[in-house]
Amino acid sequence: MILGAPRRPLSLEDVAVPAAGPGQLLVRVRACGVCRTDLHIVDGELDRPKLPLVLGHQIVGETDDGRRVGVPWLGWTCGECRYCTSGRENLCDRARFTGYDIDGGYAEWAVADERYCFPIPDGFDDLQAAPLLCAGLIGYRSLRFAGDGERLGLYGFGASAHIVAQVAQHEGRSVFAVTREGDEEAQAFALELGAEWAGAGAPPEELDAAIIFAPAGELVPAALVAVAKGGSVVCAGIHMSDIPSFPYELLWGERVLRSVANLTRRDGEEFLALAPRVPVRTHVEAFPLERANEALDKLRRGDVRGALVLVP
Ligand SMILES: [Zn+2]
Ligand SMILES: [Zn+2]
Repeated sequence: MILGAPRRPLSLEDVAVPAAGPGQLLVRVRACGVCRTDLHIVDGELDRPKLPLVLGHQIVGETDDGRRVGVPWLGWTCGECRYCTSGRENLCDRARFTGYDIDGGYAEWAVADERYCFPIPDGFDDLQAAPLLCAGLIGYRSLRFAGDGERLGLYGFGASAHIVAQVAQHEGRSVFAVTREGDEEAQAFALELGAEWAGAGAPPEELDAAIIFAPAGELVPAALVAVAKGGSVVCAGIHMSDIPSFPYELLWGERVLRSVANLTRRDGEEFLALAPRVPVRTHVEAFPLERANEALDKLRRGDVRGALVLVP
């Protein structure tokens, strides 16, 4: 499924099987998760994609020697810049990303640099494993930056939040899910997954930390209001609408506001070791690859319980 230009539907095309270069794996795609970042690329909000492009950065694939590997968003880093040499390869100036700079997994085949692929843990089938690779990974990184506080607010209860909620409760925290007004399905889903409270507007208790998954800037001051002194608000998405101005008082009291960008390979190793121990159970809805546009529309409408996964 090819993106020829932004703001156009993907087109189903027959293309040659890509050739793996030195150090690369050719994988037969078994499943590929759909991420909100894919929507930001299609909608032109992330405006420097390779074109034409194969989207998709939550790839579960099989190598020709029968290994199951996961291909995440971080596809390549330089290894030399000050970020790469200080354990922060997620911030590499020259990083290349799967499904953005490199063709991704909305396809039957994909090629990936082996150094950035992860083994898929046993106990997850291909479909269930796919959302671990971005929704899970970025959620995990966001949770680490949210600190150790007990009461955790999740703003936007989509693919990532439904995984983070499980990890957070495994760590003994209480989860408060903030959804859009009237999104009773998301609220019911959060409660089913063990959330202490789910609703629109302000949570009933002061939070120790909040993670914002929804790409809506107005949630930033709302989350700062909800967190206690010393608490963190973490913006987990790659794109967000403008943040309205707010009084300094909301940040005062040593509250921390930060974003989370991309992932390191270490995040992947840690999270994929943790996921089976929780154990994380991903809720997925499968779409055949050729219906990728439908899946993207469904995600745009917010009409998803858990994660969407494409199957070639
Ligand atoms: Zn670098
Ligand atoms: Zn993603």
